[in-house]
Amino acid sequence: MLPFKLIYHEGYDLNLGAHVFPSQKYRMIRDKLLVNGVATSEDFLSPEPASDEDVLRVHSQEYVYKLKNGTLSHAEILRMEVPYSKKLVEACWLAAGGSILAGRRGLEDGWAANIGGGFHHACPDHGEGFCVIHDVAVAIRRLQFDGAIERAMVVDTDVHQGNGTAVIFGGDADIYTLSLHQEHNYPFPKPSSTIDVDLPDGIGDEQYLSILEKHLHQAFHDFAPDLLFYLAGADPYREDQLGGLALSIEGLAKRDALVFDYARRNGVPVAITLAGGYAQRVADTVAIHVGTITAARDAAGQSTDRVKSRAQ
Ligand SMILES: [Zn+2]
Repeated sequence: MLPFKLIYHEGYDLNLGAHVFPSQKYRMIRDKLLVNGVATSEDFLSPEPASDEDVLRVHSQEYVYKLKNGTLSHAEILRMEVPYSKKLVEACWLAAGGSILAGRRGLEDGWAANIGGGFHHACPDHGEGFCVIHDVAVAIRRLQFDGAIERAMVVDTDVHQGNGTAVIFGGDADIYTLSLHQEHNYPFPKPSSTIDVDLPDGIGDEQYLSILEKHLHQAFHDFAPDLLFYLAGADPYREDQLGGLALSIEGLAKRDALVFDYARRNGVPVAITLAGGYAQRVADTVAIHVGTITAARDAAGQSTDRVKSRAQ
């Protein structure tokens, strides 16, 4: 049994059919966590969908209306790069509800993980790059609205820059955003996060980890958040079809452990979301995401008491 909750819903599957985005991965990760004995069924919580009010704290009324009523233009659907359906919209509202719940449980238990979410390319008035609504931003705004947090940090290690996060939180002194991504990759242009780290093509574990550590050190020196949202993209993997970095599965687990170590040592609760992952073999993407949960379990085992006492 895990010392924190995993948030999952079978409705997370975006039902994309044959698509480079393997949205069946959510179910596969859940199954693998159970089969490997990392988690038991009692570790899982099922989220409610976010309310429209929650989504409207981040997204424009016009965009939400178009999503809910199926009136996006052809160009708007092309930009999302996922086929529009009512089921897609339901899955995205659920993922956002899952990230809200992960944030709440993270504050209560010190750690929590949404086995979904991390849709960091979604912008206030449009979706793009497989991202329809920005679940993490919806969660942060809801937690602020509830008075549960004032300040949050977003650490994003997906291989693609978190342009939606940057646009939504640009100029907001209460939200600190760190994005570590491949420079020569989507999106273009890259609006400014608090810290953007443009990585050269093809870097491997050792170089990546030393750059990450330097910027985590800086981020936690600059800013003391009430909660950390971690977007643990699986796509810096060397066999990713949409990424151009060269991390190994073991290197990615070390990346996660490094982020968690900084959070733990600074007494900051953590809410994890998954973000991208497009390995040639879906099993590799699943293994990387399972590695993130395992790294969180190991970090939580060292720190539950301290983070809990801070959260109370
Ligand atoms: Zn990505």
